[in-house]
Amino acid sequence: MISSVSTAIPSFIILILFLACFFSAPRIPILTNRLYILLLFATLVTAAMNILASYANRNFSVDRFIVTYIFNTLFFVALLVRSYLFFAYSASLVNLNHYNTRMFAWVFRLPMIITAVVAVTSFKTKALFRITDAGFEKGPFMYLLYMCLYFYLIVSVFAIIIHKKNFSGARDFWGAIAFNVFLASGSLYVSVFPTSLMIDTFCLMSVIVIFLCFENPDFRTEARTGLFNGNALHDYLQEMHYKKNILLLAFVIKNYQDIREIYGIPSMDTGIRLIGNYLKTSYPEITSFYFKEGRFILSADADTDADELCKSIAERFENSWDAKGVELYLNICFARMDPGTDLSSADLTLNALISAMNRAVKSDDGFVAVVGDKDITDYIKEISVKKILELTVEENLIEVFLQPIVETAHLRIVGAEALARIRDREGRFISPEDFIPIAEKNGCITTLGEQILDKTCKFIKENSLDSIGLSWINVNLSPIQFFVNDIAASYEEIIRRNGLDYNIIRLEITEESMVSHSLLLKQMESMTEKGFQFVLDDYGKGYSNLSRLHKCPFVNIKIDMELVWAYCNNPNLLLPSMISSFKSMGFTVTAEGIENREMADAMIALGCDYLQGYYFSKPLSMPDFTKAFAIFA
Ligand code: C2E
Ligand code: MG
Ligand code: MG
Repeated sequence: MISSVSTAIPSFIILILFLACFFSAPRIPILTNRLYILLLFATLVTAAMNILASYANRNFSVDRFIVTYIFNTLFFVALLVRSYLFFAYSASLVNLNHYNTRMFAWVFRLPMIITAVVAVTSFKTKALFRITDAGFEKGPFMYLLYMCLYFYLIVSVFAIIIHKKNFSGARDFWGAIAFNVFLASGSLYVSVFPTSLMIDTFCLMSVIVIFLCFENPDFRTEARTGLFNGNALHDYLQEMHYKKNILLLAFVIKNYQDIREIYGIPSMDTGIRLIGNYLKTSYPEITSFYFKEGRFILSADADTDADELCKSIAERFENSWDAKGVELYLNICFARMDPGTDLSSADLTLNALISAMNRAVKSDDGFVAVVGDKDITDYIKEISVKKILELTVEENLIEVFLQPIVETAHLRIVGAEALARIRDREGRFISPEDFIPIAEKNGCITTLGEQILDKTCKFIKENSLDSIGLSWINVNLSPIQFFVNDIAASYEEIIRRNGLDYNIIRLEITEESMVSHSLLLKQMESMTEKGFQFVLDDYGKGYSNLSRLHKCPFVNIKIDMELVWAYCNNPNLLLPSMISSFKSMGFTVTAEGIENREMADAMIALGCDYLQGYYFSKPLSMPDFTKAFAIFA
């Protein structure tokens, strides 16, 4: 007894620590968390009963007959409940919750219940075990217990493997396999050495794996706000969308990226934390999530007055947030999903909400966008574009169109911009505005970018650029591509493979890339050293910072077409002074979106070096481009 207790004490302490950890941090109300806490209790009770039962068995005397029966029965019942809970936990990890109809649940509880009944009635039937004058003895139906333990293990592993895709990553999948392997080892051990207490040690190891892979509260908490994070939101919606009886209210800080730049990242982070604290203290009954980039999502009971909630949050935002001495004035707008909205998946729920948030951002402050059919169709369209995009990239079917860039000195074509095109199944073009953001989100932008560069290089190799009058071709580079470490190496390899000079390609990057400025500069420097040239695209679209440009090795700045159109409709001083600043800084300037002669003249008068727009030509397929412009050589 002494030795078994001394080996069990560390296990008990570890389990109690896990219990304390569970209650020390807020948890989202989802099945996985509820099962985890039940598991901790069941593990603790089973281990305690195991010690008591083996003590009673080893020190058996006839006058302790009843006590020995009771401890053994309790141990077997606790063991069965614990195996069922481990199985239920595995099932909840792979989202079998939706099968969690009453019937499904009871079918899977049946082996546990039948075996538990056999254990409890063994007092009379002696089926599972019996207590004789010599003490504990296995009964003829003991195999039922082992079968039950193995049944839950086999079904768990089966469900995990079949539904592998439901895991968010390899760590989760292997974590689920690992804790079941520990359980299986424990069950094997106990069937060979029935009196050993090792099964509880194996079980503890399973609990540790579960904690490390799934139940560490940091996985579902946003560090700055202490609110639940995007992972938590996903897990929560996965479960809640079956119930459809919640109100989801989202609010978003307008122009979050720009404001972050203006106030500075530390102040804005403090602001986000203050908002988190405000939500936690003012609405403790509401589950609040922080879903990156200034977006907060609240889940409330179906009978919550959504208008009242929006009003009271909006009122708080009329005042500033005191971020360590910096007064933050933040404008927000809302998106709302009413209870009962019929959505078929968590992804659809979240994306419809994001789509409504995006709509709200474009409207007035305080506006409430209600999730409706358009948000749902937008998301369905996104999924179909995603499929087409993935197929197109996989089969390298992406098309490259070219749009000429004209120099203002002689109104002669000197360059072109390569623009990506994909087609749907009917052969209709899908706009890059639709597929580039998706490619950036799912990571295929890297391959797409390389394919565009390679096809542009091949075009240059196959057509003498001089004969078309081109000195260079601009290729767009997404900011996401800068986060890939080997972009310099892979782009260099493509240019070298095609036997070209680096300066024949100019890489266009947009202003938003400048958000993570130091990383961008580092990557740009290493690429410029190799001979690449950079062009700043769409200047004026976002929050522009002239001083930052000084340090960047751009050869040319392209003024966003909105700015050009605004000036042509209503001449102002902004654009002329911007262009003259660029020129004094040594950059050449391109005006985008030139649609007619008047616009071209206006931009020439302001001193632009290059023009691009439908007035000269729309983007053309490569064969059409050579056909149209070869004659100008
Ligand atoms: P961008 O780089 O600013 O490209 C110019 C866009 O303006 C092109 O749209 C072009 O067709 C359009 N445009 C040119 N002249 C005019 C005009 O006079 N009037 C009007 N209304 N539009 C004009 P497109 O091809 O739809 O591309 C949209 C954006 O998608 C591009 O904007 C670029 O940011 C992105 N994109 C396109 N191809 C690629 C690519 O290969 N890689 C990456 N990362 N982004 C790309
Ligand atoms: Mg561009
Ligand atoms: Mg542009």
